[in-house]
Amino acid sequence: MHFTTKQIHAGVSPDPVTGSILTPIYQTTTYVQESVDQYMAKGFSYSRSANPTVSALEAKLTELEGGAATTCYGTGMSAVQAVMLAFLNAGDHAIISDVAYGGTYRLCTKILSRFGVEFTFADTSNPEEVRAAVRDNTRLIFTETPANPTLKLTDIAAISAIAKEKGIPHAVDNTFLTPYFQRPLELGADLSVHSTTKYMDGHNATVGGAVVAATKELDEKVRFIQNATGMIMSPMVAFLTLQGCKTLSLRITRQSDNAMAIARHLESHPKVKQVRYPGLESFAQHELARRQADGYGAMVWFEVEGGMQAGKKLMDCIELWSLAENLGSVESLITHPVTMTHSDVEPEERARVGIIDGLVRLSVGLEDSEDLIKALDDALAQV
Ligand SMILES: *Cc1c(COP(=O)(O)O)cnc(C)c1O
Repeated sequence: MHFTTKQIHAGVSPDPVTGSILTPIYQTTTYVQESVDQYMAKGFSYSRSANPTVSALEAKLTELEGGAATTCYGTGMSAVQAVMLAFLNAGDHAIISDVAYGGTYRLCTKILSRFGVEFTFADTSNPEEVRAAVRDNTRLIFTETPANPTLKLTDIAAISAIAKEKGIPHAVDNTFLTPYFQRPLELGADLSVHSTTKYMDGHNATVGGAVVAATKELDEKVRFIQNATGMIMSPMVAFLTLQGCKTLSLRITRQSDNAMAIARHLESHPKVKQVRYPGLESFAQHELARRQADGYGAMVWFEVEGGMQAGKKLMDCIELWSLAENLGSVESLITHPVTMTHSDVEPEERARVGIIDGLVRLSVGLEDSEDLIKALDDALAQV
């Protein structure tokens, strides 16, 4: 079956009791058992461990990513955390992409470091730098590609090969491209991590996360954390995310077409200093983007002439685009990473990895590209 068919039908079937075509929201804490001997005969005991609505979403995501099993979480950050808790102990070391979601960086430096885990924030776009960073106690390689917010790419197959050679699991944060455009497990990664908040839901309705594992053994490790720490997704969120997934390929295709049109337009705009979008020939890693993904995604960043002041002014006066965190939704959003999503990353670290002060991040939505471009032009005329 092809992706667009699978995104609608995988993991779900009509409710056996009523025939309801949508998997119901099983809003329940517990499940009555037939007898002591028949404990868990229907697969459920308590909704912190598993819930039928959540299980349906987990089954769908497993098929979409081509994995062995999936666990879903209350947020993308709890999905990231489940991976880290599953593989890292005191005294261990992990290699993380130096450009990554701000919350991932904060989780490592402000929380997990307190428990005696050491991190190297490496330029994972350079496989040799990753190889050189591996130590005897390295137990996890966690990459994000394209990375938030600079869109730097990591060669998933190259890093997975190093990870395999060294016997270290490789987890990829696949939030930006989704399995429709990029399937890390097919490229050799062990785990594909998502903030389902973004393209999977796609409607700015929920926060959630998922970890798709390449094998049952890896899944058991993260599933143990999901239950033991109580990070499972709620049935209502799973229900809404199930509906979002049904249009994922259509939305992200149209959103990336819009992103391409906007990136090309901005590239020739006199008030724009630089534009980065993996689909542009001018993008340094354009070839890698073509090779490892089936599309370029809908995140664009650019720098306005006039630096921080001009960037802020643009965001304050722009129409149609909402000044908001989040990304991947049908509504177009505009963000200033330095003061918003990445404010917890120290200025020196931001400068080191290229999160410059004037960077404007666009999450291109599903509106007509002509309207989005006109709104950008009107705002640029005012800065
Ligand atoms: C948003 C995001 C996260 C965190 O997800 P939440 O649902 O906000 O907790 C992790 N990784 C990436 C790449 C993200 O964009």
